[in-house]
Amino acid sequence: MDKGNVLEVRGLSKQYKKGVYASEKVTFDVRKGEIFALIGPNGAGKTTTIRMIATLLQATEGDAQVSGHSILTEPEKVRRCITYLPDEAGAYKTMKGIDYLRFMAELYAENKEEAEKYVATGREICELGDRLNDKIASYSRGMQRKLLLARAIMSRPDLAILDEPTSGLDIINALEIRRMIKKLAMDGMSFLLSSHNMLEIEYVSDRVGIIAGGHLLETGTPAELIGKYRADNLEDVFELVVMKKDMEG
Ligand code: ATP
Repeated sequence: MDKGNVLEVRGLSKQYKKGVYASEKVTFDVRKGEIFALIGPNGAGKTTTIRMIATLLQATEGDAQVSGHSILTEPEKVRRCITYLPDEAGAYKTMKGIDYLRFMAELYAENKEEAEKYVATGREICELGDRLNDKIASYSRGMQRKLLLARAIMSRPDLAILDEPTSGLDIINALEIRRMIKKLAMDGMSFLLSSHNMLEIEYVSDRVGIIAGGHLLETGTPAELIGKYRADNLEDVFELVVMKKDMEG
């Protein structure tokens, strides 16, 4: 594994039904401190790919390594290096925000001291201040998402895998979450995101992978891809990439 990479995905495929690929021979890398986003429409294979890397779904073919550990042969070690936030994640509504952070910290930390460190980090990341003492049921969707993100990231994993991290949020909350992700990446954390909102992802990602019909069709920085396809934005790039693929059959 290349030293500068946190994630190396090699020929990863999934067939839910024999002969039907939800993702086929997907290959890409994520570097240390990089924000990489898989972008594509509904049903493109983003969640399938992400769940295989998160060791929640068994790959049909191929492998991926996280910090030098294989998802096939060392899934437990992989789980210790990553965090995964699914798009439909929910927090326990009857708990107070702070108790939720404590509960999750105690679950993941090796000892009390480490758990306290996680809670302190989580508190800082979510920026919810005194509202952490309120029940989660009283939080807005944006506040809940911030709490969940803080929970996912407080253990400072090598790689944070976030499925649609800003889905359903308004512009202000989405902006705040993007800012949080960028700040953590500056501190060296790596991110694998998925999104079907290509315009939004253009602002947060260092590099993107365009996925459609289970195939990773292009990877590059948003600027590289926009330049290559002489497009105005990533949404246009996506259209051109898919058109090119269709023409090539
Ligand atoms: P979305 O943006 O809607 O979440 P996605 O890009 O994450 O889409 P996937 O959820 O990975 O796409 O789905 C890829 C393909 O695999 C789709 O055709 C989907 O119907 C199929 N698929 C996903 N999960 C299963 C499953 N458990 N059993 C059978 N087929 C599945």
